[in-house]
Amino acid sequence: MQSDSSTTSPFSIATNIAVKLIQRESVTPEDGGCQNYIKTLLSPLGFVRTSVDTGGITNSIYTRIGELNGTLAFAGHTDVVPTGPAELWPHPPFAAVIDDGVLHGRGAQDMKGGVACWIAAVAGLCGEYTPIPTIQMLITSDEEGDSIDGTIRILEYMQSDGTLPDAAIIGEPSCAKLVGDTIRRGRRGVVQVRATFHGKQGHSAYPQDADNAIHRAAPALARVAAIEWGEPALGFPATSCQITNVNGGTGATNVIPGSCEALIDIRYNPGNDFDEIKAAIEAACEDSETTLDFDHVAIAFSTPDGPFLDQVCASIKKVTGIETVRDTGGGTSDGRFLAAAGIAVAELGTTNSTIHQIGEQVAIAELDILTKIYSDIIENFEVQA
Ligand SMILES: [Zn+2]
Repeated sequence: MQSDSSTTSPFSIATNIAVKLIQRESVTPEDGGCQNYIKTLLSPLGFVRTSVDTGGITNSIYTRIGELNGTLAFAGHTDVVPTGPAELWPHPPFAAVIDDGVLHGRGAQDMKGGVACWIAAVAGLCGEYTPIPTIQMLITSDEEGDSIDGTIRILEYMQSDGTLPDAAIIGEPSCAKLVGDTIRRGRRGVVQVRATFHGKQGHSAYPQDADNAIHRAAPALARVAAIEWGEPALGFPATSCQITNVNGGTGATNVIPGSCEALIDIRYNPGNDFDEIKAAIEAACEDSETTLDFDHVAIAFSTPDGPFLDQVCASIKKVTGIETVRDTGGGTSDGRFLAAAGIAVAELGTTNSTIHQIGEQVAIAELDILTKIYSDIIENFEVQA
């Protein structure tokens, strides 16, 4: 057992920082002192912290003006999901125990490990007096929650301040089996719809006096399910439109239902957009007495192939020898907010085999490799004209 990060620790800087972060309990939306701790690490390197705390959420922008042109950001979060029953963990979830080359604890992969690697990479370069671009770290304690007062508020601040970066690495655990095997360069968007079909309740023996809401819903929902969404954008899965709930009726077989409600979940690729999706759903339901409530939960984004992604992949190749997959899978991430602000985004972090699970852990060898990759990306970052 080794969870001490004193100067005698045999572990790397990244591992020691990850230990200290995991030991600060920061279940969403708590920060648990993580961002103050990060400040104590970054201040001696010349970083200035700007707090953008909103609605009880701790948000920080740490900025170090660089010697080279351009601004490269690292975006991430210090909050973690709840642990579940702590007694089921092989080691206490906030003890940050290192056992047999593996660091155990909530946030080890998602994503205190990635945050620690980025700090270690910057510290290494500064310690060697290596010229680097301007570096920002955009850290929120609200990624695992509702994400309303987190990265989006940081970006609003930067937009008004004129300090948006040229590109951003998001330290989410992007990799499948080996560090560097996968980066995320885009994500599908999410639209959720609540469709309420209105009719008139009545006796099933007297349909002439009623208006069956389920009979209104059924053909409309069949049309929704049959919508053709077109060819997906390059590298993305096709848009998926799933009717996930249908509720109507009183429970009695002899009562014609007066209303029926359906929930629809649409995961769309950047070949579609919200207005197009809304129009298609409205057209499919237009014959009915229907109320449609749309929620554009997440905008789709895609960073095009180009110098930034090429350089990220080149750094991975140089450190690991791996040919990286440029993936667009998974759920949503804060990358959507950065991409919407016009920033080139690549998500690159540790492997994700135990995220949100009981017994979350990361191999310390991964942290050392990821630190080297981040370091190479920072050192070779070039702004595109
Ligand atoms: Zn995360």
